[in-house]
Amino acid sequence: MIIKATTKVYGIFGHPVNHSLSPQMHNAAFQSLRLDCVYLAFDVHPKDFEIAARAIKSMCISGVNITIPHKESIIFFLDEISPEASLTGAVNTVKNVDGKLIGYNTDVSGFLRAIKEDLGFHPKGLSAALIGAGGAARAVLTSLCMNEAYQVYVINRTLDKAKRLALEFKKGFKDTFIQAVSLDDKDEIKNILGKTNLLVNATSAGMKGDDSVEMPLEHLQKEAVIYDLVYDPRETNLIKTAKELGHKASGGLSMLLYQGVESFEIWTGKDAPIGVMKKALGII
Ligand code: NAP
Repeated sequence: MIIKATTKVYGIFGHPVNHSLSPQMHNAAFQSLRLDCVYLAFDVHPKDFEIAARAIKSMCISGVNITIPHKESIIFFLDEISPEASLTGAVNTVKNVDGKLIGYNTDVSGFLRAIKEDLGFHPKGLSAALIGAGGAARAVLTSLCMNEAYQVYVINRTLDKAKRLALEFKKGFKDTFIQAVSLDDKDEIKNILGKTNLLVNATSAGMKGDDSVEMPLEHLQKEAVIYDLVYDPRETNLIKTAKELGHKASGGLSMLLYQGVESFEIWTGKDAPIGVMKKALGII
C-alpha cells in the first residue's frame, strides 16, 4: 500500500504490544477494501499513557484499540462511552469523530458472537461458570448478563475480587443469579460443573503453554460447552481435555476476530471482510 498525506491512522495502545495480532488483521481488511488507512501498534508505557491518550485528538488519529493495561485508564480521556463499555467499566475501541472521542467495548459482543459461531451457544436462560475476575472476565460477565443468562458462577483464585465483581453486577442485573466462588473450593466447583451449560476460562492461565486452571471437567454435564479466551496456544490444555471428554470446546482466536470485526465496522461504517481477517489470523 502507498502511505499518503491523506492516509487515516488507526492503531493499538498496549504494554507490551509486540505480540498483538491486530495490525495484521486490520491492515489486511483495509487493503482488501482498498481503504486509505493504516493500523500500527504503539507500545505505551503506563507512565506515558496520558500523553498518548491526548495525542489521539491532537494528532488526529482516527481510531484505536486499547489493550492491557490501559482499558480502564482510557475512560477518563473520552467524551462519550457506549452502554456496554459503561457496564464493563472498560473500553477496547475508541473512535475519533471530528475531535470527539467515543469509547466502546467490542469484547462484549465479540465473545457472544464467538460462542455462537464456534459452539452454537446462546446464554439466554442458561447457566454459566466463569473462571477469572479480571478485565476479560468483566466483558464476558457483561455479555452473559446482557443476554439474559439465568445464573453465572464467578470462580476466581482471589475470592475477594470475584465477590466484588458479583456484587457490582448483581446491582445492575437483577434477573441473573450471580455468585462468587473460590478456585480452591473443589467441592463447590464439582457441584457447579454438574449444572453448568457453558464453562469459560477468562484467566491468563494456559497462555504460552503454561498450565491451564485445574478443573474437574469429568463433572460437567454431557452437553456442556467450553470456551477459553486464551488464544496462544490455539488449543490450551483445558480445550484439549474438554474435547477428549467429548465436549464442544473452542479457543479465544474467534473472540479476537469478532471484537476486531466490530471495531472495524465502528471505525469505517463498512461491513468487515471477515474471510480476509480470518485468513490474516490463520483461522482459515
Ligand atoms: P487480568 O485483568 O490481568 O486478569 C487476570 C485473571 O486471571 C485474574 O482473574 C487472575 O486471578 C487470573 N489468573 C492469572 N493467573 C492465574 C493462575 N495461574 N491461576 C488462576 N488464575 C489466574 O487479565 P485479563 O485482561 O482479564 O485477561 C485474561 C486473559 O484473557 C488473557 O490471557 C488475555 O490474553 C485473554 N483475553 C482474550 C481476549 C480474546 O479476544 N480472546 C480478549 C481479552 C482478553 P487473580 O484475581 O487471583 O489474580
